Amino acid sequence: MTIVVTDNCRGCRFTDCVTVCPVACIHADDDMVYIDNGVCIDCMACIPVCPVQAIFSADELPGDQQHWIQINAERAAALPVIDAKQDPLPGAEERRAELGYAVTSVSQD
Ligand code: SF4
Ligand code: SF4
Repeated sequence: MTIVVTDNCRGCRFTDCVTVCPVACIHADDDMVYIDNGVCIDCMACIPVCPVQAIFSADELPGDQQHWIQINAERAAALPVIDAKQDPLPGAEERRAELGYAVTSVSQD
């Protein structure tokens, strides 16, 4: 199977995925991350932890997102691995809200 990061990651880069990946196959540029499927073991641990639902297995990838398979392959090959959590990009919370994944406050009673 192939695991793919899509456009929702761009501008967020919360990097929660990096903290759960057991094989350090996640690469990054200044905008987002990409998965090297030559190294990824398809464990799927990264999919539920992404706060903006940017990660899909290829068999669940929407039809209009198929181009991300090739983008992940090309960009991961050209970029360094990140294997530790990094600060989100400036504006990440605003971008998250725009995407419809804003954090809702939880009452503490
Ligand atoms: S957790 Fe999601 S938004 Fe954050 S870097 Fe990974 S794919 Fe991108
Ligand atoms: S599926 Fe598993 S091995 Fe592949 S990128 Fe996600 S956490 Fe890493």
